[in-house]
Amino acid sequence: EQREPVEEVRPKTPVKPMTATEVKVNVSIPEAAERAAATGADGVGLLRMEHMVLSLSKTPERFIRDEGEEAYVQEIVEGIRHVAEEFYPRAVRVRTLDAPTDEFREMEGGEDEPHEHNPMLGYRGIRRSLDRPDVFAHELEAFRRLYEMGYDNVEVMFPLVNDAEDVYRAKKLMQEAGIDPEKREWGVMIETPASALSIESMAEAGITFASFGTNDLTQYTLAVDRNNPNVADRFDELHPAVLELIGSTIETCREHDVKTSICGQAGSKPKMVQFLVDAGISSISANIDAVRDVQHEVKRVEQKLVLESVR
Ligand code: PEP
Ligand code: MG
Repeated sequence: EQREPVEEVRPKTPVKPMTATEVKVNVSIPEAAERAAATGADGVGLLRMEHMVLSLSKTPERFIRDEGEEAYVQEIVEGIRHVAEEFYPRAVRVRTLDAPTDEFREMEGGEDEPHEHNPMLGYRGIRRSLDRPDVFAHELEAFRRLYEMGYDNVEVMFPLVNDAEDVYRAKKLMQEAGIDPEKREWGVMIETPASALSIESMAEAGITFASFGTNDLTQYTLAVDRNNPNVADRFDELHPAVLELIGSTIETCREHDVKTSICGQAGSKPKMVQFLVDAGISSISANIDAVRDVQHEVKRVEQKLVLESVR
């Protein structure tokens, strides 16, 4: 089924401050697409695939075994399509599946999940995808079909990569699935110090964007569990070490013409916005309720930078 041509899609963008830095929105569940689009965001900086899969109440492996591969691909196609349609032609950056094993354990088929002492350091994100290319192929097939349908605003984002090897392996699977990386926007999340320190070689591998997942980047840089109340006061996304990793990554990306973005919660903090706009980030993606404030903060910081430059 072909989507309608762009001209026939009615404009949905309300009046918003004009900024050079794009302000996008995070979408966790496809059903929130309308509300997200109504913010006037410049696109979706993070569409999480987790809800589309976890709402099936079975692990991907069990769902595919019971319901078939086609049903699994269709669930993902429909979830993404709903958002891609709502935002067209604005870009929708879709993150491939990133659920830790403890979340799958609750579901049918969860008994087959590995037992892990540290699920957040374990079998999740691109690690699981690369380990199970047979399962991952269905996610990639969903992207291929969306491109075939005309949703060229869809972008592919890989979570929890560490280095260029992860990127080359993921890229190869994309190609094997019939997606041409040369024609698409695709990239990685910067969520581990290793990924930030590997940005140069990842850029050479051909990524077109890198997006900071500061929830994880902070927890792994500071060794502070993001969900542990005992150390919650030490969870500081503005810690100089975190900012150093972000700042140097943006600088390298600019040298290589790779776009940069943030999709972690810190993107809605005014101090982080100031730091990022100053560093020259391409876009900031915030939760639906925060988009408006971020738009205005970005505008304020950009105006200040312009004034400083002419003084
Ligand atoms: C992050 O780590 O900042 C992120 C956006 O991903 P998640 O919160 O889903 O781990
Ligand atoms: Mg993360």
